[in-house]
Parts: sequence; structure tokens; C-alpha cells
Amino acid sequence: MIIGNGISGVTTARHIRKLSDKKITIISGETDHFFSRTALMYIYMGHMKYEHTKPYEDYFWKKNRIELKRAFVESINHQQKELRLSGGEIMTYDKLVLAVGSKSNKFGWPGQDLKGVQGLYSFQDLEQLEKNAPNNKVCKRAVIVGGGLIGIELAEMLHARNIPVTFLVREKSFWNGVLPIGESEMLNRHISNNHIDLRLGMNLKEILSDDQGRARAVIIQETGEELACDLVGLTTGVSPNIDFLKDSGIELGRGIKVNPFLETNIKDIYAIGDCAEQHEGINGRRPIEAVWYTGRMMGEALAQTICSNRTPYNPGHWFNSAKFFDIEYQTYGWVFAQPRENETHFHWKHQDDTKCITICTETSSGKFLGINTFGIRMRHEVFDRWLTEARSTDYVVAHLKEANFDPEFFKKVESSILAAYQGQTVNA
Ligand SMILES: Cc1cc2nc3c(=O)[nH]c(=O)nc-3n(C[C@H](O)[C@H](O)[C@H](O)COP(=O)(O)OP(=O)(O)OC[C@H]3O[C@@H](n4cnc5c(N)ncnc54)[C@H](O)[C@@H]3O)c2cc1C
Repeated sequence: MIIGNGISGVTTARHIRKLSDKKITIISGETDHFFSRTALMYIYMGHMKYEHTKPYEDYFWKKNRIELKRAFVESINHQQKELRLSGGEIMTYDKLVLAVGSKSNKFGWPGQDLKGVQGLYSFQDLEQLEKNAPNNKVCKRAVIVGGGLIGIELAEMLHARNIPVTFLVREKSFWNGVLPIGESEMLNRHISNNHIDLRLGMNLKEILSDDQGRARAVIIQETGEELACDLVGLTTGVSPNIDFLKDSGIELGRGIKVNPFLETNIKDIYAIGDCAEQHEGINGRRPIEAVWYTGRMMGEALAQTICSNRTPYNPGHWFNSAKFFDIEYQTYGWVFAQPRENETHFHWKHQDDTKCITICTETSSGKFLGINTFGIRMRHEVFDRWLTEARSTDYVVAHLKEANFDPEFFKKVESSILAAYQGQTVNA
């Protein structure tokens, strides 16, 4: 029995089916079928229909004997191995996989539950957004609170419908807790160039209501300014969706506590994906990893364990990707916002202000530790190999074109990167 039909739960089910003839049921409350959460923005922007975001045809599930049940699980009784569904139905399990994902954070702001205030996580959030912000007649201005990856997606979505957006970002520069300053500042300019009213170093104080219980304005903490708006997007991060497990006896921290085998403290109950929290991060990784591909890897590992080949989750080298309006971002290995001890950053930026890279090197050995690239698409498998081979940054820079996705384009920037790198190493 798997709760959650996101990437983690569905990957587990698919791999259990590949390995065995076990009975598999996926219960999920959000949608009948698995869809790609990362593509939600493209539905609103009109690039895709909901149907296009479903990775598998609807006949796939029956053909593969994966039973789907649309319901919310309200509670778990692990002594009886029972689940109670909303509506009172009881289901039993032999082994239970919790793949229940995340929920949007709210930090107790006055007015956070008014109509017109919402996050962006679920399919229902997207439906709500269609109601709250169908066009710039109904929604004359939106305020987005929280400068992370979902906030910038929401800004792009609303901008695509010509809805003016004010973007309140607590940090002094966009996503600078994660990105080195050169990258973060380039994004500040890119966001503003896309006509988003970016307010750095600003927090939400409260959301004001009209007499119908709808948001009509926000007050900014730092300035006291009142900004009229029809939509408030709360995109201040996500956290594991575990409230329904409070009295279950399953060990909880910020998420559902698991060991490297993704086992909880209760026999035959496992947790994977956004909702799982490792007791200790594996190989320097964060204990909770709320990204798409790690959910998939956890699902693959857990299917092995459930099919009697006990296998730890082994995430390999960190990578991730995102898009900031027109600028694609990829990261391989570790590049922190500030170089840590015995680390050096090499930063190169193109004069057009939409492309840059930062390479992190172990200072004492010259070993390549990671790269961030913006506006230049790189090949994952090449960087993964170089990280495994513990190549030097000298080697990586000299062979950078091997990793590039678009060699014709890369020819144009390669000499500039090389010259900058050689300049830096000569000067060092
Ligand atoms: C707008 C947006 C953009 C994103 N973009 C990226 C990106 O570009 N790259 C990236 O790596 N990651 C991205 N992410 C994060 C990524 O989508 C998640 O890490 C991933 O979807 C998590 O998968 P999951 O299977 O763990 O959980 P989920 O996809 O959240 O699935 C969990 C499911 O379980 C259901 N559920 C929860 N509790 C219950 C219950 N009690 N009973 C029944 N059902 C329940 C939920 O309704 C949900 O359908 C994005 C997320 C969002 C919201």
C-alpha cells in the first residue's frame, strides 16, 4: 500500500511491479492519476494541458495491475496494519509506503487564510489560481511573498497573463542563501528586466481584508507601505506533509524519520520523497531533499528493499536544475553561496548579463567540487563522471566543451571563460 501518487510513490509502484507480482495499491487524495508537479506552471501559461503532464497513459495502471484509489488517509493504526480513509473506510496493508510529499509553509501572518491568499503546490492550488487570477481585470496586482524557486515560477506565470507582480523577498539579494552573489545579483537584474517589482529585504507584515473576507492589500513590515492587490502568493518554502501522522507512533522530526534504507521506526512502514527525513544527511546531503529526482531514486531503492533485496538510498552526486524566467540554471556537485574553508570560487559572467558560471575548487588540491551554470546548458553525465573521477578544476575548464549541450553556441563563450580562468589562476 502506497500513500501518495507523486513521483516517489509511483516510482516505487512501478519498480515493485518490475520485480514482483505483489498486490500494489496507491491511495492519493489530490488527483486520479500521477502528473508532473514541476509542469504545473506550464498549464497556467497555456503551454500544456493537464493531460500532457501525465507521464503515463490512463490504461497503464490497469495493464500493470497497479490499483489506484482516490481518497485521503486520515490516520494509521500500525498495530492492526490499518488505514482509515476520510469517509470512514478502513483498508489494511502488509507493507506501507508513505510518499505524501510537502505542503506550502505559512508563518502565522494576520490574514494568511483570507480568500485570494494561496500557495502553489497542488493541482487544487492551480485551480484556485485560475479563479483568483484568471486575467488582469480580475487580478489587477499580485503580491508574491518569498523568493525561492516556486516564487519565481509564480511570478513568471502571472507575468505571462500580464498581471503586475510585486515580489517581496526577505533576503538582500534573490536566493542568496543558495547562490553566490554574482549569480544572485544577475538574477535580481533579470527579474526586474522582466517587469517584476522586486522588493529586496522586505517582509510581509499582514494581509488586509475587504468586507467579503478577500485579501485587498498587504502591509510591508520594513516600510509600513500598503500595497493594494487581489492575489497574495505565499511561496515561503515547503515542509513535509505530516500533520495526519502526529498520533501514529511513527517517529517524526520536521519530516518522517528514516534510516538509509528508508525504513521508519515502525516495522513495515517506509517513507520516501519530500516527506522523508534522514536521521543524518547522507554524504553531506540535507536530511530532507524536496526535489523531483531524489524522490525517484528513493522509490527505486525502496522497491528493491520491499522485494527482498534490502538496498540503501545512495543519492550519488548532487545535481539540480531550475529556470528563472529565460535563464536556465543547473548545478552539479557543491557550490555554496560562500566558499567554505579550503574552497575557492571562480566566477565568469557574459557581458549580456544572462549567462554565468561559478566553479568551486578545493583550494589545497585543486580538485573540482562543483559548478553552477546559468544560461549555458551542460551535460549531467559528463559532470557526474568528472566528480566521480575527482578531476581537477584545471582539467574541467580545459575540457568544458565536452560537457556542453550546444557546441556551436559554446564556441562563442569558451575562449572568454578560459581567458578569465587563466587570468585568475595567474593572478592568484
Ligand atoms: C510549482 C513547483 C515546481 C517545482 N519544480 C521543481 C523542479 O523544477 N525541479 C525539482 O527537482 N523539483 C521541483 N519541485 C519539487 C518536486 O515537485 C517535488 O520534490 C516532488 O514532486 C515531490 O514528490 P513526492 O512524490 O515526494 O510528493 P508529491 O508529489 O507531493 O506527492 C504526494 C501526494 O500524496 C498525496 N497525499 C498527501 N497526504 C495524503 C494523505 N493523507 N492521503 C492521501 N494522499 C495524500 C498528496 O496529495 C500528493 O498527491 C517543484 C514543486 C512545485 C510545487
